[in-house]
Amino acid sequence: MGGFFGVVSASNCVREVFYGTDYHSHLGTRRGGMAVQTEDGSIRRRIHDITNSQFKTKLEPILSECSGKCAIGIISDVEDQPLLVSSRLGTYAIVTVGKIENIRELAEESYRTGTFFSEMSGGELNPTEMIASLINQKPDIIQGIQHAMDSIKGSCSLLIMIDGKIIAARDKYGRTPVSLAKRNEDGAVGVAMETSAFPNLDFTFLRDLGPGEIVQLSVNAIRQLKKPGTLNQICSFFWVYFGYPSSNFEGINTESSRYRNGRTIAEGDDYEDIDSICGIPDSGVAHAIGYSNASGKPYQRALVKYTPTWPRSFTPQNQAARNLVARMKLIPVEEQIRDKRLLFLDDSIVRGTQFKDIARRLYERGAKAVHLRSASPPIMFPCKFLNFSRSRSTLDLAAPRAVELLEGHPVEDPELLKKYTTEGTEQYNAMVEVIRKELGLATLKYQTLEKLIAAIGLPKERLCTYCYDGCDPTSGECPACRKIKESLGKSKGAKGTKEKKA
Ligand code: SF4
Repeated sequence: MGGFFGVVSASNCVREVFYGTDYHSHLGTRRGGMAVQTEDGSIRRRIHDITNSQFKTKLEPILSECSGKCAIGIISDVEDQPLLVSSRLGTYAIVTVGKIENIRELAEESYRTGTFFSEMSGGELNPTEMIASLINQKPDIIQGIQHAMDSIKGSCSLLIMIDGKIIAARDKYGRTPVSLAKRNEDGAVGVAMETSAFPNLDFTFLRDLGPGEIVQLSVNAIRQLKKPGTLNQICSFFWVYFGYPSSNFEGINTESSRYRNGRTIAEGDDYEDIDSICGIPDSGVAHAIGYSNASGKPYQRALVKYTPTWPRSFTPQNQAARNLVARMKLIPVEEQIRDKRLLFLDDSIVRGTQFKDIARRLYERGAKAVHLRSASPPIMFPCKFLNFSRSRSTLDLAAPRAVELLEGHPVEDPELLKKYTTEGTEQYNAMVEVIRKELGLATLKYQTLEKLIAAIGLPKERLCTYCYDGCDPTSGECPACRKIKESLGKSKGAKGTKEKKA
């Protein structure tokens, strides 16, 4: 996916942006970059491949190479960023997080006017370059951002650094979070995707941007350039998996919501014969602690993560490499496995291949029984808004694969898949049973969507749940989606020029 961080300050802020960006490293593993507006007004930029080494290691030289009072940084899971753009709107640096499903169509349209794009290796187009190109089609940056957000299918939150200021824009439907903070001692203003980045840099959280909202940050001031829309569809996976435990999204802490989630999975579950509750590191751990606290069964670590060298991530993009990383970073603790009946919690079951391998290894080491509870419902639809499941087709996912087996043919029809999403029905139970057998588990249960939403604590209409239930109020394709869209009105937003003392 990716994450960004930026600061405008009265003094050199390169160090803050270096560390603040690094605090987004759990969101991506491919590229890391920073751009700094120096005292003479020019922009210095560094981009590095962070596939096999940390952002901090690769970017550290920038601390001595340049200084400036305005800087932005990015952890990117796809493209090289930040991009430096020289256009009629001025020279600026831009970073983006999101996904453009219709990037090829947009490129085809642009080719007709003589525009060209640089291709990344593999022949893909750089999504951030596409966003910049769309922005540059309009007479000013604000109209340009609105045009870009209206043109893309997918999602996009971004930062633009121009003339010693930062323009921050949250995705039109708020799929990804963007938060603002201030350092009281010197009036520095910061922007981040994860609020975890703020406290150790002495920033105090101010507020989240609303969906589609655009603001301009300068020292001691936040100026609203476009009001937020009304339809917020923040990705519910931030609380399940993406978000760092210390981060809050929409004012709701990630770690606490995972405890609540684990607790509700335990409620009504049969754990009498279980010896210990275990979590798959990292995000499965908090769900497991919640389950353990509610059930009274001890939380124990049958698998430990080798943290000194392995980053937390499901990337790299290549599946074989992902499987290898998943295997190498988790080490079994034999004393906690042998002769034990273990109940594991994991954030989700995407393909299922990783836990299949884990279950086999646990049984090889003498586990009496391996049970699994997924902290989220079955994933039925590949994400079309973020790069969460970038290379996955529907049939890469464990749940639709099980449906295929039951139906006797590949199932891409969303209406047929939706029939398997209702917990407790014959179809749902049959699907879960196929997955249980495939993974070699004693028992398998999924969290229900209703309970997950309750554990997060936002109303359903303020969350994206598309990958679980196929509901997308922004498209209004099904009656339930249309109802949500109609009740909230279209995301319009209006231009605003209010400058507020931050
Ligand atoms: S489809 Fe799933 S992963 Fe994608 S934005 Fe929605 S909730 Fe998040």
